[in-house]
Parts: sequence; C-alpha cells; structure tokens
Amino acid sequence: MTPPLVFIVEDEPKLARVLEEYLQRDGFRTHQIERGDQVMAQAKELGPDLILLDLMLPGLDGMEVCRELRRFSEVPIIMTTARVDEIDRLLGLEIGADDYVCKPYSPREVVARARAVLRRWGPKAEAEDTRLAVAVDMDRFEARLGERVLDLTPVELRLLHCLSERPGRVLSRDQLMNRLYPDGRVVTDRTIDSHVKNLRRKLADYLPEQDLIRSVYGVGYKLEA
Ligand code: CA
Repeated sequence: MTPPLVFIVEDEPKLARVLEEYLQRDGFRTHQIERGDQVMAQAKELGPDLILLDLMLPGLDGMEVCRELRRFSEVPIIMTTARVDEIDRLLGLEIGADDYVCKPYSPREVVARARAVLRRWGPKAEAEDTRLAVAVDMDRFEARLGERVLDLTPVELRLLHCLSERPGRVLSRDQLMNRLYPDGRVVTDRTIDSHVKNLRRKLADYLPEQDLIRSVYGVGYKLEA
C-alpha cells in the first residue's frame, strides 16, 4: 500500500521542514506548498490524502483555500493557526475543515492528529459495499440505499442528506436543526431525536444488521463512514 500523501501548506520554511521530518519519520509522504493560491491546482494533480493548512498564507488565506477545496474534494483538512480565538471563529463558520491545531504545536501532536483524522476517514475507501452506499439526490428529492429507493418524509430526506454529506463527521442537534428548518422554526431536541429514530427504523428495514446512524452521547449524530 502506498503511504498516505500529506500536503504541508505552510509559509514558514522552518516549520514546514520540521513537520515534513516528523511526518516522513512516521511513514507519510509529504509535499510542501508555500502559497495558498497554489494548493488547488496541486491538489487536483496529486490527490493528497490529507492537507495540513496554515491559516495565514500568501496568495490566498487558508480559509478561502479550504472553501475552494470543498467545492470539489472531500480530502481531510487540518487547519493550523497561531491564534486560539481564530479557532472559535473558524468553527462557527463551518468552512469544512476536519480538525484545528493551534500554534505553537508540537510536531508530534500534529502527526497524532493526522493519524486520527485519517483513521476516521480510512474505512470510507474500503466501504465499497454498494448495499451500504447511501446516496441522496436533492434535485430529484430521492434517497437510495444501494439500489433501493427509500420511502422517506421530506424532513427525513433532508436529515439523511445532511448526515451523508460528510460520513463519519458528527453533527450536533443544533446544526441539524438549522439545516432541517432553515425558516428558523423553533423545534426541540426531542423533535430531532424522533426524526432520527424514524429514519433509523426505515434504514433498518432495508439493512437490519447495520446501524448506519450512530448517536454520539452529548454531541449529536453521524452517519457511519
Ligand atoms: Ca503563515
């Protein structure tokens, strides 16, 4: 198996070199990029398995890079920033990064996070069992599990759509609420829970031995990757 390729997008050469050294020692392949505006083309060309993305970059800042990448790629992204308060802001913006690390960090910690993110994403590539593939087509307003069209209510369909966008990623009840009821209607956590319960029951009709939707205690729900 080819070792995972990690993009190190970092404009401080010293820092980039240290990361490179640690990642390579841990068995990763690495590729360094110093400018934000060079990431897209190289991501398309080389298809990285993970991107370590600095926030402050020449050319295009990390936040924009992240947004652009998400238009065509689900590659795991770990953002790095020198400011703790930036992390809160970034989390609020939901720009699609998978993890955040604050500088100064220990390279060892970054390697550990990289491993963790890849582990979370790892099973995705293997899960080519088409029986388990959830596909939601919002244009046709239709969801499929493998070949079978699911009989869902509009709310259940939207719910499955949200969860299926990023399998493995936990969505909080608040996040789901905002997505399911964009009109700002006030619903309780229990409403979300009961929609999830119904959706689970329907999925179980087709796939009784699998629990595709996992609840994460105190956080929310996720679709198994
Ligand atoms: Ca920087």
